[in-house]
Amino acid sequence: MSTIRTTCPYCGVGCGVTVEDGVPRGDRGHPSNFGRLCSKGAALKDALDLPDRLQHPTIDGRAASWDEALDRIAAEFTRIRTAHGPDAIGFYVSGQFLTEDYYVANKLMKGFVGAGNIDTNSRLCMSSTVAGHVRAFGEDVVPGCYEDLEEADLVVLVGSNMAWCHPVLYQRLMAAREKRGTQVITIDPRRTATADMADLHLPLAPGGDVMLFNGLLVHLVDAGKVDRDWVGEHVAGFDEAVAAARQTAGSVELVGAATDLDPTDVLRFYDSFARTERVMTLYSQGVNQAANGADKVNAILNCHLATARIGRAGMGPFSLTGQPNAMGGREVGGLANQLAAHMGFEPESVDRVGRFWNAPQVARTPGHKAVDLFEAAADGRLKAIWIAATNPAVSMPRADLVRDALRACPLVIVSDAWPTDTTALADIVLPAAGWAEKDGTVTNSERRISRQRRFRAPPGEARPDWWMFAEVGRRMGWREAFAFETPAAIFREHAALTAFENDGRRRLDLGALATLDDAAYDALDPVQWPCPKTGQGGSGPRLFSRGRFPTDDGRARMLPLAIRADTKLAGYPLILNTGRVRDQWHTMTRTGRIAHLMTHSPGPRLALHPRDAMLRGIVDGGLARVSSAQGHISLRVEIDAGLRQGQVFAPMHWTDQFASSGPTDRLVHALTDPVSGQPDLKGTPVQVSALSETWRGVLLRRRDGQLSLGDDRLWSKAPIAAGFRYELTGVAALQSLIDSEQTLRRLLHIDAAAELVSYADPKKAVFRYAGLVDGRLDACVFFAAPQATFPEADAACALLGQPLDAVKRLGLLAGLEAGPQASGNIVCACMSVGEARIRQAIRAHGLTSTAEIGALLGAGTQCGSCLPELKKMLALNVIETGVQA
Ligand code: SF4
Repeated sequence: MSTIRTTCPYCGVGCGVTVEDGVPRGDRGHPSNFGRLCSKGAALKDALDLPDRLQHPTIDGRAASWDEALDRIAAEFTRIRTAHGPDAIGFYVSGQFLTEDYYVANKLMKGFVGAGNIDTNSRLCMSSTVAGHVRAFGEDVVPGCYEDLEEADLVVLVGSNMAWCHPVLYQRLMAAREKRGTQVITIDPRRTATADMADLHLPLAPGGDVMLFNGLLVHLVDAGKVDRDWVGEHVAGFDEAVAAARQTAGSVELVGAATDLDPTDVLRFYDSFARTERVMTLYSQGVNQAANGADKVNAILNCHLATARIGRAGMGPFSLTGQPNAMGGREVGGLANQLAAHMGFEPESVDRVGRFWNAPQVARTPGHKAVDLFEAAADGRLKAIWIAATNPAVSMPRADLVRDALRACPLVIVSDAWPTDTTALADIVLPAAGWAEKDGTVTNSERRISRQRRFRAPPGEARPDWWMFAEVGRRMGWREAFAFETPAAIFREHAALTAFENDGRRRLDLGALATLDDAAYDALDPVQWPCPKTGQGGSGPRLFSRGRFPTDDGRARMLPLAIRADTKLAGYPLILNTGRVRDQWHTMTRTGRIAHLMTHSPGPRLALHPRDAMLRGIVDGGLARVSSAQGHISLRVEIDAGLRQGQVFAPMHWTDQFASSGPTDRLVHALTDPVSGQPDLKGTPVQVSALSETWRGVLLRRRDGQLSLGDDRLWSKAPIAAGFRYELTGVAALQSLIDSEQTLRRLLHIDAAAELVSYADPKKAVFRYAGLVDGRLDACVFFAAPQATFPEADAACALLGQPLDAVKRLGLLAGLEAGPQASGNIVCACMSVGEARIRQAIRAHGLTSTAEIGALLGAGTQCGSCLPELKKMLALNVIETGVQA
């Protein structure tokens, strides 16, 4: 039995995966996860044979050969470049790319097309961290490593729902806490699953991070915790940074007032930080996705630099990267403001990279960052855009404007593995090989490079992304520069460029890997840079331990940081925070097609503070219209006391393929951080108003198909074992939907030959319809008054596709009761254990620990992603019943 070692494709933790007999499992030998996988990673086996793969190139919707598609792209790029200049072409790529994909795309755009116009969706994810690192350290380098989590005495989590977004790392932290009693403090406007587990949660006002960390800097100075000798020798800008901090955040009371925090809690945080040598500050999208994201990052780095808590075991600032290979993209130069291999656009770097690539027309200036790139497409400056492995029609701010931009752009090429809202707008669609089908490398959040290995053949004519970009380069006339035959050859060139004329100034130096032959590349074990043989001043897995930074004078920089005024907009009194749910990944192209991953959060919801809901007459489970200056969507509401009043939260995952609301990001404003260009995805002013619901329904169908029900009927879709389940809601009379048999048949997706049976009780507003094909249940729909819960639909899921005798038909139409299996939203996705079942078991058996829940129900015994929720349920039971653990 052969074992393939590869890497999970979902997040920046970079967990190792072994594949035996085609089944992926956690790799016990991988130093990121030691065998653990979260719910998404554990479901990788279910992502292998998902339907709807793109398998053949298309041009204007018709099938085309690879030759025809690639020739067309190369000819159009050449024509546009000649007629309008290189800046008229743009690439928008992805943190899902392998490093080798990134390298070839970047080389083609910046080296040979000759423009800086390649940006990546990592711009939306961590570009503020890149800017912060470059400003403080001189280079985009993460100083610490995962082991630090296990050696820290205090872990501060800022703007990070680590329990849901980086679950395996979170499990490592929780295990360390069990052993050494690590203190955990979370700083987040929202009380998340991560905050629930913390010793202290600071629910600061959105955007208050700079104020809070400026105040911490002042406190550290006043408490005598600054390492004056170290700062004197290794840091510049200390006095200016402290003076600026003192000006705005001179006292705990001032900080408390500005951040809307209790000054006593602020002081608790400051005292804990001050007295604990081994402090790690981990931060994520709550820091990065802001109009002052780069300043937030530097406010954190200032505190670690002032106390010399960097580069040593158990301490340091640490950015948690969102995407699986955002770090690889940063290493290659996949952001529009980087050139390549941690080099910028300084003349000497342009010259160096040009000589290395033997490319006389290397881009000399940065290109358009993501938001600007689509604006250039909208206003006609861009004549062609190639979007790869990402779905900007959903994930970009002002998603509707992005769609208009793509409709306006003369040539839109999209390469992807599945059809998306973006491929629907493309002139040329190229089928890309997926995770299991391509070879290359990824770099995780702690600078560890791991191999992703192919273990399946791509379907149809799907090809790796690097191959497509290399083919276009060759067809544009640059045969030698793009003569790559294998990912190994690309990796060697990438590694060699990092080492080229690198006198130690650039910490990214993979020279030790530049001579790997194909066999050694194939067998490469996970390796963390600085690589062992490069001697780049690292000490083990940490950087900057000797206080030497890659700046001109070798000293790090502390920055004076001003406080940014709040974003306010008349008529939009609430602030929309967008983010993730536990079991979904990005725009759901894979995870949205896996039934059990849709059971934890089956549809898009708007989380609303109880008082904001009450003021608007909105109840839990009711409907709301959310409006911003950019547009509006309608969502079902979840009352959440863990939110701050004035803030609402909505997940960013749902697309036109999964819900009538479409992408939440169509509401998001275009504000970006002036330094990093990262969009402010968590701070859009919105208004929320109640929508009056007139009926509710559940539709079950064996076959997929877009629903177009009109503006006054809302829907969301989730796959189930035998088909699809749709939640339906009406804000106008039901009658027009059920009056016409033709409309009902369209809804049920059945033709005239299928049998349509029905039951109606108008007095109770109950209507049920079922479509049978060859005596088997093909689809059914249940309508009822608002607030209905449809236990009969839960039971009917099991009948979908099954033959229905007369008794079963009658039972279906009469409304079957939910069977004993009905258990509410699924909490443990691995073992399919629902909330209702767990609550019932806790009460009935007096369970007081997650271990006991695991022993009885199996929940929480696999990936561990649900442990925070299980602990919360146990705690709630204590409150409700008074039964203590
Ligand atoms: S934490 Fe989960 S999603 Fe992230 S790499 Fe590990 S298994 Fe994959």
